[in-house]
Amino acid sequence: MNYISTRGDTTPRKFCDILLEGLAPDGGLYLPQQYPQIDAATLAAWREVHAQQGYAALAFEILSLYIDDIPAADLKAICAKTYTSEVFGSEAIVPLKKLRDGFFLEALSNGPTLAFKDMAMQLLGNLFEYELARRGQQLNILGATSGDTGSAAEYAMRGKKGIRVFMLSPHGRMSAFQQAQMFSLQDENIHNIAVEGVFDDCQDIVKAVSNDLAFKRRYSIGTVNSINWARLLAQVVYYFAGYFQATASNDERVSFAVPSGNFGNVCAGHVARMMGLPIHQLVVATNENDVLDEFFRTGLYRVRSAADTHETSSPSMDISKASNFERFVFDLLGRDGPRVKKLFTDALASSGSFDLSADPAFKQASSTYGFVSGKSSHADRLDTIRQLFEQHGVMVDTHTADGVKVAREHEQAGVPMIVLETALPIKFAATIVEALGREPDRPAKFEGIEALPRRVQIMSADSGAVQRLIAANC
Ligand SMILES: *Cc1c(COP(=O)(O)O)cnc(C)c1O
Repeated sequence: MNYISTRGDTTPRKFCDILLEGLAPDGGLYLPQQYPQIDAATLAAWREVHAQQGYAALAFEILSLYIDDIPAADLKAICAKTYTSEVFGSEAIVPLKKLRDGFFLEALSNGPTLAFKDMAMQLLGNLFEYELARRGQQLNILGATSGDTGSAAEYAMRGKKGIRVFMLSPHGRMSAFQQAQMFSLQDENIHNIAVEGVFDDCQDIVKAVSNDLAFKRRYSIGTVNSINWARLLAQVVYYFAGYFQATASNDERVSFAVPSGNFGNVCAGHVARMMGLPIHQLVVATNENDVLDEFFRTGLYRVRSAADTHETSSPSMDISKASNFERFVFDLLGRDGPRVKKLFTDALASSGSFDLSADPAFKQASSTYGFVSGKSSHADRLDTIRQLFEQHGVMVDTHTADGVKVAREHEQAGVPMIVLETALPIKFAATIVEALGREPDRPAKFEGIEALPRRVQIMSADSGAVQRLIAANC
């Protein structure tokens, strides 16, 4: 399998080359040259593999179609080491919870940091360690987080040979639980930096350091953000695993509802569907930051300004633009790289938006590609959390609540709906208390985490200071 850019550069690249890169050199995102097609026999075989040998074996089957520059035995070992019941809390890895007939939650949030980003990041950690050792290289991961990404990255990379993590977060702005999760890590290779500023300041520092090309090269600076193809690929697996659990045979179709921000999670659903997984609809659920809902309703893609980006109670979906969306637009427009490039450079630079409403391709977003959407507000979130708790005794987090709310609006008779549960309620306790008047349950291994000693440095929003810190620790 070779990979190409969404912006017209068709130079073929191999998986392990793009693994350690972020954007393609032309500024686009990587996608496979074509999606492997799964015929009925293969889908039947995979159902068996999943039933008999479990999630890790299924992951290997899927990944091996996309990765041909890691020997099969090594890739199999990496999958087996990543997706264990010790790390993900159950043999099923992504167990399905039935709320009622035809309506399910798929639990993606039982990994080390209790959010779905562990599903991909844990694999990324093992892939990075493997590939860096093979090349005799080191990598310094520099990132900015408002919560879930940073902790998932740190728990995936802690103790890994050849890797250091420098993670910036806005000082005092993450939830108490999220701060405790990250700052209590004592591993030598993990560096928490609390920046006196907001999340945008953290992102600006990452950009400034990455734009210093001499520094970037000298210190092998890399990232683990959601545009990384390997993360997206890892996520494709749980769409198959969810489908196999919800259906008795491969003649059935299901829909997935996905709490969405950067379009990373649901883009993996798109890839699974393009491979031939019988997905009826992909339901994109946003919060008040409704960039994606607006597009799927109207055809207008409009990046928001910082002032127009709301701080909500489902904060991991508080985005001004959807950084993986370009991948879908590339497919939607018949893989016309030069056109995608124009939209995502000239059009966004000049007006901050582009409008596909008059393009015949736009109708295909739902008719051919199965996308529908909806949005949810703080009041909806509270209502949904209450209803699920009263009717089913199930406590969901705020992001999953957005997914459930929008899923209900798109349910169709005879088509099971699977809502992806993207975090556990304990990560966003304040809103649970507001909705239910009680604290969320806390998994035993997180008892007392707030009282653990912390390893974090507080710094002003100064990229030079961050560069000095990196240099001093390499
Ligand atoms: C990151 C995140 C999301 C949004 O995922 P995208 O891939 O950015 O669309 C939703 N819910 C939770 C809990 C998250 O951490």
